[in-house]
Amino acid sequence: MREQMKVLLVAAEAYPFAKVGGLADVAGSLPKPLYDRGVDIRVMIPLYDKIDREKFGIEYCGVDFDIEMGDEVVKGQLLAAKFPDSEIPIYFIECKKYFGRPGIYTDPETGEAYPDDGERFVFFSKAIIEGIHALGWTPDVFHANDYQTGLVPALIKIKYPDAQIGFLYSIHNLAYQGRFEFEILDIIGIGKELAYPMAPFEFFNKVNFMKVGISFADIVNTVSPTYAKEIQTTEEYGYGLEGVLRSVSDRLFGVINGIDSSVWNPESDKNIPYNYNADDLSGKRMCKAALLKEVGLPSDALDIPLIAMISRLADQKGFDILLPVMEDILKDKVMFLLLGTGNKKYEAAFEKLALKYPKKLAAVIDFKGPLAHRIEAGADMFLMPSRYEPCGLNQMYSMAYGTVPVVRKTGGLADTVKPANLEKDTGNGFVFEEYSGKALLGAVRRAVEAFKDGRAWRKLQGRCMSEDFTWGASADKYIELYRQALALRRYGI
Ligand code: ADP
Repeated sequence: MREQMKVLLVAAEAYPFAKVGGLADVAGSLPKPLYDRGVDIRVMIPLYDKIDREKFGIEYCGVDFDIEMGDEVVKGQLLAAKFPDSEIPIYFIECKKYFGRPGIYTDPETGEAYPDDGERFVFFSKAIIEGIHALGWTPDVFHANDYQTGLVPALIKIKYPDAQIGFLYSIHNLAYQGRFEFEILDIIGIGKELAYPMAPFEFFNKVNFMKVGISFADIVNTVSPTYAKEIQTTEEYGYGLEGVLRSVSDRLFGVINGIDSSVWNPESDKNIPYNYNADDLSGKRMCKAALLKEVGLPSDALDIPLIAMISRLADQKGFDILLPVMEDILKDKVMFLLLGTGNKKYEAAFEKLALKYPKKLAAVIDFKGPLAHRIEAGADMFLMPSRYEPCGLNQMYSMAYGTVPVVRKTGGLADTVKPANLEKDTGNGFVFEEYSGKALLGAVRRAVEAFKDGRAWRKLQGRCMSEDFTWGASADKYIELYRQALALRRYGI
């Protein structure tokens, strides 16, 4: 039997302990399928104040450490628990000075990012190494994520050049790179000689933790194959790191995030009024009637296609091309439902449209988790006209609920949604390529036209519902990347 591979996943957040964004979902969901596949997977995150120690059974491991932070020595402790309902260990780095605060990255009082985030995550990165020492458990592979743990591969490789440890670095959010002034080098304990122009520790006269991560890792990945290519192209996609990413192109991969089928499954979902599956979609029709009633649209209009969106109202999500054609969309026999909050300009525009077209458009300007489930169940189509989309989850949730996605061909949307061909019974959605209102309108109209053929539409729904977007397939890919990182480090291959 092959020896069990030991992997330590380090991140700034992991669900259900601490969550701000998609990183928490990956750090929280990936360990289970890895464990099921025989990986000795463990996770380490900071112990933020808001993490409920009692609820999760988090206990002190008897390990204290002193971390040099420039001229200062800062104390920390190691605590541990298990992921709920599992045997998977999760470790926590405690430090009152850096993590004993109400927010994770942002001060809830001011809404601003904590000004010492650089320092906080230097501490965390150094403490990870101390924690491993104290545990006497050396992983074969470190899986670092996003800028907060970008320094980990560098710190270990510089301190222990002969360590036979592989490093995978995953990019979830390129928009936050951790760019700090050179003073941070003193705190990291790295001499300025490693920050010469174009070096891993230099990025336009600053230190960029994400660049450090990309440069020192053996393998790099992001959350979809298409996005992995796109971020090497232009500044718009690469946020300034496109050149660095191009330089590691032969070891840069994309792995789609999975969806949690215990939460997003129309057969068992407790948030929806009627459960259903691909063999019997009658429950979906009843969900549609209930949803129309709930949001104030005509509940007898069951044969009129309902197009839905659940989204942050941000430029990234395509609202700048959608709004100018919104009234054209509404000229057809359709209904439109939006759930979202964000940019005030978009909130106001949708509220105005809802007043003007009360029988055709409803806008719920709010963040409502359970309603998101009822929309996935009750809608016919789901629109995602994103300008860019690293992975995207809603298109996968939609397909699981037999709601056909209409998407722009970008990032994870391009990897998961394939153009439908109703004659040949292939494809699972409607796709447009050019980032324009005209192209968007064309795709919506193709979907509305296709909806008229009930039989073909049901087959299309069946194809959507038979897709497997659960974590298993993604976990297999992560294991491949771990093996690759390890082989590169140990044998240079
Ligand atoms: P992103 O992470 O860029 O916002 P994704 O499609 O990957 O986009 O994930 C968005 C997640 O947030 C989905 O689970 C979606 O249902 C949820 N969501 C977004 N806006 C809302 C909202 N207003 N109410 C409820 N859930 C929302």
